Amino acid sequence: MKVLEERIREEGLILSDTVLKVDSFLNHQVDTELALQIGQEFASIFRDLPVTKILTVEASGIQFAMAAGIALKVPFIYAKKKKAVTLSEAVYSAPVHSFTRREDYRISISQKYLGPEDKVLIIDDFLATGVALIGLADIVKESGAELLGVGCVIEKSFQKGRGLLEQRGIPVHSLARISSMSPGEVHFIDNDVQYKEMIKESAGC
Ligand code: 5GP
Repeated sequence: MKVLEERIREEGLILSDTVLKVDSFLNHQVDTELALQIGQEFASIFRDLPVTKILTVEASGIQFAMAAGIALKVPFIYAKKKKAVTLSEAVYSAPVHSFTRREDYRISISQKYLGPEDKVLIIDDFLATGVALIGLADIVKESGAELLGVGCVIEKSFQKGRGLLEQRGIPVHSLARISSMSPGEVHFIDNDVQYKEMIKESAGC
């Protein structure tokens, strides 16, 4: 998604070879127009799938899950990182290690809102080591629902997340795929080129 790549180039702060700060427009202050465009982009990628629910993790996946949910006309559920006193009913839960905060926690969602009848799309802001999304995928499995795919706003393709999800047979679509970065420099994998290569391969060229 070109507009997203441009914003990352213009406003992203590369704090190290592995951490990108995008809190001026994506995950602290949120550019609402861009968030809606991101939702539309996810909807155009996943429109042909029979999605019934979108799943994300609080807090920074929420604005994109909501935008995609509006565009696909389905509800979204966000997994909670701390079990609230109001979440008194049975929950599905999974352990997660935070890449940026370097801490372990459990994510949980109420069993009332996800079940075997659901077809799920997972949306999140970043795909890095993949542990948060694997936690969500485990929750989907526990619920008996079907996981149709994962959509990420930014993927750091040099980390192992995509590989781990694909090993489990989960299709992954990311709107900006970073192949490498260092302070002052960011390189993207050209999604268009990727798609063209995939089409060539499937046509046996
Ligand atoms: P994971 O390592 O499980 O794929 O990433 C989990 C979460 O860590 C993401 O949803 C995101 O909130 C956060 N995260 C991972 N890498 C980065 C990064 O480079 N920058 C920021 N701002 N957050 C990140």
